[in-house]
Amino acid sequence: MSRNILITGGAGFIGSNYINYHLKKYKEDKIINLDLLTYAGNLDNTTEFSKNSNYTFIHADICDLNKLNDLFESHQITDVIHFAAESHVDNSINGPEAFIQTNIIGTHCLLQTAYRHWSKNNSIETSRFHHISTDEVYGSLDETGLFTEKSQYSPNSPYSASKASSDMLVRSYNQTFKLNTVITNCSNNYGPKQHKEKLIPKVIINILNKKPVPIYGKGTNIRDWLYVEDHCEAIYKVFNEGIPGEVYNIGGDNEYKNIDLVLLICEKIAKLKNVDVNEYISLITYVEDRKGHDYRYAVDITKIKSELGWVPKHEIHKSIENTILYYMKQNDR
Ligand code: NAD
Repeated sequence: MSRNILITGGAGFIGSNYINYHLKKYKEDKIINLDLLTYAGNLDNTTEFSKNSNYTFIHADICDLNKLNDLFESHQITDVIHFAAESHVDNSINGPEAFIQTNIIGTHCLLQTAYRHWSKNNSIETSRFHHISTDEVYGSLDETGLFTEKSQYSPNSPYSASKASSDMLVRSYNQTFKLNTVITNCSNNYGPKQHKEKLIPKVIINILNKKPVPIYGKGTNIRDWLYVEDHCEAIYKVFNEGIPGEVYNIGGDNEYKNIDLVLLICEKIAKLKNVDVNEYISLITYVEDRKGHDYRYAVDITKIKSELGWVPKHEIHKSIENTILYYMKQNDR
């Protein structure tokens, strides 16, 4: 079976890793990558596959309905995997408007266009709309418990509220129009090609350049970390095998306090560079906490494990080293 899959946001961190994964995994599909190339998008992220004959790049905004209509028509889009978003919580606190526009309006433009085209082609049941979302829609946990697919939505930042809204719109197109949707809510990703504004790249780059390493509050907030390649594998599974209308949580079963993660990175870089770790630890600088900072996120992955047989495979000690090596190479450029 050959599909014409529209991937949005494929010049960003997870989208570009996913396209690389998909093109290698299944060679029959055509991938059309639509990306606005905001500050977060970078065509360098696509060099590994940009010359693949099954790959096309389109520079466009997911909020541009005319462009989307033309694209669905000209490329006969059969499926969508929707990554494009404003993705950084801090930016959403400083300026929420772009998050409302891209994450909510943009998602609706895609849903509307997909519905229009696929109902015309009688492919509503077979064409898949996979929405990539976050575990942050569920809010914050205290020391115990995990988010399941049935947890109540309680988003706390403009970013998570905009993602929660987009999840609800996707759900509504399934319930009302029978669009063949799946939603995946994933925990924090790390790996190559992540924008330097995010925690792990920022810590690595600042250490490599001997700059202060800022940590919010006391560094005690807890996140679950998943290597991006594991996320790509999970997306591929859900895209191909997930049940229409269903939601799947994805996570690494791998919780770290922010400070412990930073100390791990210090240790790894010190070992790679044969430097005394205290030189890097002394760069750690505690800064005023993020407004409304969620204390802990952690997801229950029983559903995707038991129904689709997916489990995370990458162990953080090894994968964080790969990630550090990637940024060392970038830093030396
Ligand atoms: P990213 O910021 O690295 O990439 C986002 C991409 O979307 C960029 O290439 C950008 O140019 C593009 N984009 C932004 N606005 C656009 C628009 N209006 N039209 C077209 N393209 C646009 O983000 P990421 O970290 O790769 O995240 C991808 C998706 O995964 C997002 O939906 C995010 O909410 C979700 N997610 C991310 C994480 C994580 O840890 N990074 C975890 C769970 C879920």
